[in-house]
Amino acid sequence: MLWRVVRFFLFQLAGGGLGFALAPKAYALHGALGGLVLSSLAWVSIDLWRSHRLLAWLRDAPAGSPIRIGGLWGRLAQRIERSFRQRDQALQDSEARLQEFLAAIQASPNGIVLLNAASRIEWCNQMAASHFGLDPRRDQDQLLGNLVRDPAFVRYVEAGDYTHDVVIPSPTSSSSRPVRLSVQLFRYGQGRRLMMSRDITALEQADAMRRDFVANVSHEIRTPLTVLSGFVETLQSLPLEAPDRERYLDLMAQQARRMQNLVNDLLTLSRLEGSPPPPLDTWVDTRTLLAHCVEEAGSLSGLLSSEPHAISCDVAGPGLLAGAEAELLSAMANLVHNAVRYTPGGGRVEIAWRHLPDGQGEFSVSDSGPGIAPEHLPRITERFYRVDRSRSRETGGTGLGLAIVKHVAQRHGAQLLIDSVLGRGSRFAIRFPATRVREKVSAD
Ligand code: ADP
Repeated sequence: MLWRVVRFFLFQLAGGGLGFALAPKAYALHGALGGLVLSSLAWVSIDLWRSHRLLAWLRDAPAGSPIRIGGLWGRLAQRIERSFRQRDQALQDSEARLQEFLAAIQASPNGIVLLNAASRIEWCNQMAASHFGLDPRRDQDQLLGNLVRDPAFVRYVEAGDYTHDVVIPSPTSSSSRPVRLSVQLFRYGQGRRLMMSRDITALEQADAMRRDFVANVSHEIRTPLTVLSGFVETLQSLPLEAPDRERYLDLMAQQARRMQNLVNDLLTLSRLEGSPPPPLDTWVDTRTLLAHCVEEAGSLSGLLSSEPHAISCDVAGPGLLAGAEAELLSAMANLVHNAVRYTPGGGRVEIAWRHLPDGQGEFSVSDSGPGIAPEHLPRITERFYRVDRSRSRETGGTGLGLAIVKHVAQRHGAQLLIDSVLGRGSRFAIRFPATRVREKVSAD
């Protein structure tokens, strides 16, 4: 500042001196005065011109092009420029932080909607958009109540108690694809609210399945148990003849077997759920598997009917199958048992193994039994789903056989294929992926 004052006086002095030197001697003082005035005017004009440039720069492009002016105004311009740059940097930093924060909320598996104090949508992530059928751009600033109209939700919002969630059907829910949402609001800021939504459809379905499963198991066990305790009471209270006693004991053994079968199948299912994936490098000879199936079919046929079934086995070329032998045997035996159990005596049961041209391998069991109506096929592998309930019970069925087969197939990356024509027979096949199938080359 001092330097500026000195420069001002030096400038005046120079102006005065110049006026003094240039003026005729008689008017030297006037000349000095004129030079002083002119230099003051020049100083003020330069100052005005610089301030004008600074003002123009501030008005037009303060953040963009830099300005180069001298003097005090130049220094002022530099300071302003620097503070603009710092402000821009701070803005960029906070914008980047905001974008990172929003990206993190976008990545959340939950739906998030930010509401302002007037219950209007300020922002929502993609998950919330798909939960509520929103368009994040179009529906910005819309009233939430206009978009989510479920009465339970409206009551929840009005009650203002957000310590718990509310479960509502998603506005995108349909009868073919029901979607259930758990929604909860959280207060923050000045009257703002955050709405979090979670898709709990699968959770609710799993819960319903678990409840059904427990109810089914209890029912399946209770029935033979009731029969069994009835017989025990009869045996205890009535003095029965030997043949009657024998008959009652046979019936009791039958019910005990039924419970035993059920427990065995339940244990098989739970083992399948808990055990590690079947190995890819343990090879089982398909002929061994099929021989076992044929043997099982023969003995079951002898047990169930007086007229034996016509059982055939077709192994088109020796093969090897990678997987867990016990699981494979259990799945194949289940299909064979079903074919024998549901096909009346004298009927045909064909067991086969073949290699498909694309490298896959297929185990199949065909029968000439009653067949299955198409409406049952989508549900037939569900636990405890039965088409012919009485035949299933009579022949020791548990309703879990096909569920076990499907589970084993899935664990081996295989598909369970069912073809059936009512009155003509059924064909069940497990198709294994090429990675688990090998054609056996040795000549043994
Ligand atoms: P179950 O122990 O009752 O046989 P599964 O799960 O093995 O239970 O089979 C489900 C239902 O599918 C059976 O109750 C039966 O009605 C039907 N089913 C299975 N296999 C055959 C078949 N080969 N022929 C006709 N119906 C079958």
